[in-house]
Amino acid sequence: MLTDQFGRTHNYLRISLTDNCNLRCFYCMPEENYDFTPHSKLMQVEEIDTLAKLFVQHGVNKIRLTGGEPFVRKDAAKIIHNLGKLPVQLTGTTNGIRIDDMLSEIVSADFHSINISLDTLHSDKFLKITRRNYFDRVMSNIDLLLTHNIKTKINVVLMKGINDDEICDFIEFTKNNNVEVRFIEFMPFTGNRWTSNQVMTQKEILEIIATKYDFKPLPIGIHDTAKSFSVSGHQGNFAIISTMSEPFCSGCNRIRLTADGKLKNCLFSKKETDLLTPLREKQDILPIIHSAIWSKAKTQGGQLNEKFEKIEASVIQNRSMINIGG
Ligand code: SAM
Ligand code: SF4
Repeated sequence: MLTDQFGRTHNYLRISLTDNCNLRCFYCMPEENYDFTPHSKLMQVEEIDTLAKLFVQHGVNKIRLTGGEPFVRKDAAKIIHNLGKLPVQLTGTTNGIRIDDMLSEIVSADFHSINISLDTLHSDKFLKITRRNYFDRVMSNIDLLLTHNIKTKINVVLMKGINDDEICDFIEFTKNNNVEVRFIEFMPFTGNRWTSNQVMTQKEILEIIATKYDFKPLPIGIHDTAKSFSVSGHQGNFAIISTMSEPFCSGCNRIRLTADGKLKNCLFSKKETDLLTPLREKQDILPIIHSAIWSKAKTQGGQLNEKFEKIEASVIQNRSMINIGG
């Protein structure tokens, strides 16, 4: 069991396959000339396999592939094939562009669900947010997942003045589409020019939805980061991830592996623990993993524990989101 000093056990591993991406979402990857990590410094296929197996032996039963964009990695198919053989619930977070190319791998690895990031239902705004023109392909890939009965969630990072006017449009989208739309409060990371007044809080989101829709909360599990709601008459539902206004650290069961093989015990942790170098040196990495998890801070990496309105993004020590693996 991978337990921390506050008694939380960790059975959910998020593995970033790459910090490379075919989009340039401004809130995630701020610089156009961002240097991607060279392939040799990334965990290789066998290394991912070895690390994943070790985590599974010690209680991990859910693995999420993320990035960067996990499906731009050339050997993603092989990685998925290997992880699909483990006794875990396999999931992925993707911008959706390469779902059509990866569909057979997704189906054969028996993915439990796929989260697709889509912050707007308008192609011109998609271009502004992501700096790339892939809106139609993402929309048709959402249809493709639904046609194949793959459980699909849509991640929407809400930002005031950017897409807060589309909250009800996304709820409307759930009327005839069996998806969960997950509104994510905008979070601060190195270089993303976050300010607290851009955050749409859970309270504000619910107030807007209540002006047009009848909805009710769905049961919530102890480890759930998203609070889900059903909307009467809709096939799909919606959820809110209130990291900033109502953090959910007490039930946290997540750990992260960056694409270059560093263990992060929290999305907001300053500290990282290198697993790849000792793995390559054939050291016993289990004690290193235990100690890294044991030292996890009680809340938000020990860095954000003020009211979110008071957070100064510039003093947070972290990577950019694309480089952590969301
Ligand atoms: N490329 C994939 C994608 O976009 O889904 C996976 C990686 S992305 C970093 C993972 C998730 O983090 C996405 O849903 C993205 O919208 C979210 N994200 C990125 N930057 C964020 C921020 N500043 N605040 C909140 N969520 C963010
Ligand atoms: Fe790429 Fe995903 Fe970050 Fe957008 S949110 S830049 S798609 S990693």
